[in-house]
Amino acid sequence: MKKTFTIAGVMGWPVAHSRSPLIHNHWIREHHLDGAYGLFPVNPNNLEAAIRGLQALGLAGCNITIPHKINAMAYVDWVDPLAKRMGAINTIVVQPDGALHGYNNDGFGFIQSLLESQPAWHANTGPIAVLGAGGAARGVVVSLLDAGATNIRIVNRTHSKAEELAQAFGPAVTSVKWEAREDALTGAALLVNTTNQGMHGEPALDLSLNNLPAEALVCDAVYIPLETPFLKAARLRGNPTLNGLGMLLHQARPAFHAWFGVLPDVTRELYAEVIKTI
Ligand code: NAP
Repeated sequence: MKKTFTIAGVMGWPVAHSRSPLIHNHWIREHHLDGAYGLFPVNPNNLEAAIRGLQALGLAGCNITIPHKINAMAYVDWVDPLAKRMGAINTIVVQPDGALHGYNNDGFGFIQSLLESQPAWHANTGPIAVLGAGGAARGVVVSLLDAGATNIRIVNRTHSKAEELAQAFGPAVTSVKWEAREDALTGAALLVNTTNQGMHGEPALDLSLNNLPAEALVCDAVYIPLETPFLKAARLRGNPTLNGLGMLLHQARPAFHAWFGVLPDVTRELYAEVIKTI
């Protein structure tokens, strides 16, 4: 039977706050497609059943968000090599034969957002400091390495996790202790916050920017609020800044393409529609 209505969604726990339905349903309308994108609150105990149910329900696939990005890898039939290096998936695409393929587009979203705001940006113009060593950090670090970065300093509160990443990703990546985090900013061309600090409901990141060169680009993966205290401090001292919304919007494009067959654009209208809700 010919498929006439395409359904996708996002699995998370909790998931009600997700802006992904807004993004994908915007594109469905923009491209006059028959389909819908919904929210799937999936308790961690039900993750395997929910993922296996994608094919049974005839869904095109889904996004995977906190806290399922790592565990979901075990329940798909094939994991893209890039996602394997990142150690997590954020997208599942149901194949025509029913097989479940896992991808991670977070790093793609980060680099595309960076290039959208700074078209002349290069990964190897100077040292890069990455704060955090969780899921978002892995995506950001792998994508920076693939873009040509040769000197990435990872700073994390739990040092063992930063060391783990440094060992996994080779000599271009080093770890810096949290107590010495301000030293990691010396000479940096790019500073990225991938911790949850500064996010709505969390305290501000505890970091002085005194050692950071004035021309360094300062990015935050957080997008609620759009300007975290960290980004505000950077802007006030004259650094160019970039919030996490572009990363969120751009990571959605390849997933939408895989499910709905159209590669959509990140437009001013889309930014405005999402910003209205933040
Ligand atoms: P995660 O895997 O849970 O990692 C959280 C990170 O924050 C860890 O490095 C953790 O350090 C650090 N952290 C937590 N509390 C801290 C504190 N009090 N002081 C210093 N560091 C602290 O989470 P994630 O998936 O990487 O997400 C991190 C952030 O990125 C979230 O705000 C998320 O919304 C955002 N994000 C945005 C996008 C986007 O598209 N814009 C995509 C993915 C994630 P420890 O290892 O010491 O616990």
